Amino acid sequence: AEANVGVVGLAAMGGSLARNLAYHGNKVAVFNRTYARTEKLMAEHGDEGEFFPAKTLAEFVASLAKPRVAIIMVKAGAPTDTMIDQLADLMEPGDIIVDAGNAHFPDTIRREKAISARGLHFVGCGVSGGEEGALKGPSMMPGGSEESWKALKPIFESIAAKAEGKPCVAHIGENGAGHFVKMVHNGIEYSDMQLIAESYDLMRRGLGMTAEEIADVFEAWNATELNSYLIEITADILHEKDKKTGKPLVDVIVDHAGMKGTGTWTVQSALDLAVPVTGISEAVFARGLSDQTELREEAQKQDFQVGRSGLEGMPLEERQAFVNNIREALYASKIVAYAQGFNEIQAAAKAYGWDIDLAAVARIWRGGCIIRAKFLNRISDAFESGEANVSLLFAPYFKDALETADHSWRRVVSRAVNFGIPVPVFSSSLAYFDGLRSKRLPACLIQGQRDYFGAHTYQRVDEPGVFHTLWAEKDRPEIKES
Ligand code: NDP
Repeated sequence: AEANVGVVGLAAMGGSLARNLAYHGNKVAVFNRTYARTEKLMAEHGDEGEFFPAKTLAEFVASLAKPRVAIIMVKAGAPTDTMIDQLADLMEPGDIIVDAGNAHFPDTIRREKAISARGLHFVGCGVSGGEEGALKGPSMMPGGSEESWKALKPIFESIAAKAEGKPCVAHIGENGAGHFVKMVHNGIEYSDMQLIAESYDLMRRGLGMTAEEIADVFEAWNATELNSYLIEITADILHEKDKKTGKPLVDVIVDHAGMKGTGTWTVQSALDLAVPVTGISEAVFARGLSDQTELREEAQKQDFQVGRSGLEGMPLEERQAFVNNIREALYASKIVAYAQGFNEIQAAAKAYGWDIDLAAVARIWRGGCIIRAKFLNRISDAFESGEANVSLLFAPYFKDALETADHSWRRVVSRAVNFGIPVPVFSSSLAYFDGLRSKRLPACLIQGQRDYFGAHTYQRVDEPGVFHTLWAEKDRPEIKES
């Protein structure tokens, strides 16, 4: 028993993670249900470090030094449950089972309860960054007990991405906390991507710019506060020409966006917690609409006659000014989406009893993951200082950014409406901001309606207590119910 860590499941993610572990000096036991995959990994990469390939799970467990650490990276859902059970049968109290797949956090809570009852540790760990991240350094979000974290810390820190020299991994909290935070990370990723797509649409259809011109704009934006992985790859994608037709590649890609479910989970959980995550939910629904094939084909046949105006004829100077407006609107909307995502994490921490360090969450998202961005430094600082405790939008740096962007944000949303170009995340983020700022909301009228048809009662602004108006009676008397 020599290996200090093992990986079960050697497909794209597990294979890359095992190589990353070995490359960083870990002694890595490896197992895959189908042995051929293990052999292939050894044939191609066995010389990259110290591996202990196992033909059976029993052999795999026997090759691990105690306390054993086994990282599962198999298909999410039932296959993961099967592997957990099989490993737990072979392992001993004190050993650690890590599920590094994309589990839904309630599953992680359930699994942790079952495994810890058997005296073993179970750690649900979010891993972001795709295959390349797993190989070169992912952002890692482990949950589980403090005790298991002590054993995992040196191993995970050895393989995580580094941002400003610091490993992008932190213990998030008990049981499902890690997978919850990874889920919200993915939700934020959805809104980030949709905002970039809306910006592209405004420039392409609204301003009539070419893909190449827009690529240059994103490249320039990447040198601003928007600096991020997603902006960078967007420029790359827009520069790409299709080998077959010579057209911009983006023009030959079918406009139906896929999804695997983590965005939907983020929204479902936000609904359960009653936290508005309008940016994320609009991004999920935008993908949903894009994929409504029949509905969209039918809509084309309808050929709706609506008034709209493009700005192709706009003088260059004005066009440039509008592109700047889009940049500022993108930044403001992005800040709102992050503020909402962090609010969701805060609400979950309260509901599920997790002690989550939000500054640490922002820090470990600075490298390795899809939403890595320069401005996460600012977010981390804002939580560190306590300025963002209630909302990220109230931290002076972000408040100032929203105020600076305000004019642009409104101009972009109103122009988009005139162009007939949908900007669901731009506009819903602005609506959230305006709702949040409003001293008085029309919820007063809703309470009146609820009281009218359902006797749901209301509170008064000038007197404590619960009131109900007898709407059916002629002079509509108000009664105080408590
Ligand atoms: P897949 O999700 O495609 O799963 C394939 C692996 O699961 C293979 O090793 C396969 O073994 C194993 N497997 C499937 N069914 C069983 C079973 N019943 N019993 C035992 N093993 C089984 O692999 P990925 O590498 O893409 O992803 C692994 C995990 O990482 C998933 O949970 C995924 O959601 C998550 N993830 C993936 C990311 C990505 O970018 N791909 C990013 C972040 C997380 P066999 O070779 O025998 O078929």
